Amino acid sequence: MFILLSTRRDISWRLARSAYHPIAILSQKAWQSKYTHTMATSRFIDVGVNLTDPVFRGLYHGKQKHADDMVAVLERAKAAGVRSMILTGTSLKESREAVHLGAKHNFYTTVGCHPTKSKGFDSYGKGPNAYLSELDNLISQHLEGPGRVVAVGECGLDYDRLHHSPAETQQRCFRMQLSLAKKHNLPLFLHSRSAHVDFVRILREEGFGEDGGRAVGGNGGLVHSFTGTSGEAEELIAMGFYFSVNGVGLKTEENIEVARGIPLDRLMLETDAPWCSMRPSHASWAHLDNLPTDTRKLYLPRSVKPERFKEGLSVLGRNEPAAIGGVAWVMHLLLDVSFEELTEQVWKNTVEVFQLTELENENKDSST
Ligand SMILES: [Zn+2]
Repeated sequence: MFILLSTRRDISWRLARSAYHPIAILSQKAWQSKYTHTMATSRFIDVGVNLTDPVFRGLYHGKQKHADDMVAVLERAKAAGVRSMILTGTSLKESREAVHLGAKHNFYTTVGCHPTKSKGFDSYGKGPNAYLSELDNLISQHLEGPGRVVAVGECGLDYDRLHHSPAETQQRCFRMQLSLAKKHNLPLFLHSRSAHVDFVRILREEGFGEDGGRAVGGNGGLVHSFTGTSGEAEELIAMGFYFSVNGVGLKTEENIEVARGIPLDRLMLETDAPWCSMRPSHASWAHLDNLPTDTRKLYLPRSVKPERFKEGLSVLGRNEPAAIGGVAWVMHLLLDVSFEELTEQVWKNTVEVFQLTELENENKDSST
């Protein structure tokens, strides 16, 4: 049985959970209703959603396993307090789809090429420079209006998956995309896996060594799905970058310790859906123990295997934006702040970094 004693609130919750005393039962109820109210009004911006993935249409590796349930996924997100999302572009093709989907649902998007798909630059019919200028055009055409582009990425380096694209290709394409961030003065949506030394070297060489690259026309940004060390995180923080945490960044006890060191004013949250969910085998799972039941249903809705899909249920193994609340819950315990303080500061960070001006004056308590 996991016991966590990181905040006063947790201690009172644990004591209140003791069913041996009537006063304890009363205080549990009073506490729970007060807390449930706070949580019902918590609001989120999921900064990393791969909503273009065919699994949200019921398609798994080309096979239709269940009905298209995109609408239900978005409704569950809304019910869980997700007010907006940034849809991740991971190649030219998917960036185009993300912009299209973003415009349809009034979400934001990123435009770029994931390091594991860097080969796409070279295999592009008209060559790598043409691929880059197509990304450039896509950004230029969508800097305003619904579905607007708010970041360059997902780009970076991934040395865990060199079989998809070799290191040299990844490095060259990463550098090319940094030029787009400078040109458009956009934040970066970065991915770095087992490649820290080359990753920061390239960022530094391209002028992103301090203040998020503002001296060269850059505009900061975040490193998502971070699984590196505390020392690596500190280096990126000193360079002016933020972190967006998802289930994979909370998978092991080592990840948990690193996440504990992220300053609240540098934190954002994402699901990376349909990937990177929190799972019972992960170190994060025990930290969900005291998530109130009603809220747990919203953040971690009941799921079944794709083959057993029924309307109204989510799908086992397919992460979805509603789960961002679970990530927030774990992070509020790790950073030892109230849930509300965490979610509100994360909201503020996200609006500021990506200049989501439409959300600046949104009422915290308004239901959407
Ligand atoms: Zn990534």
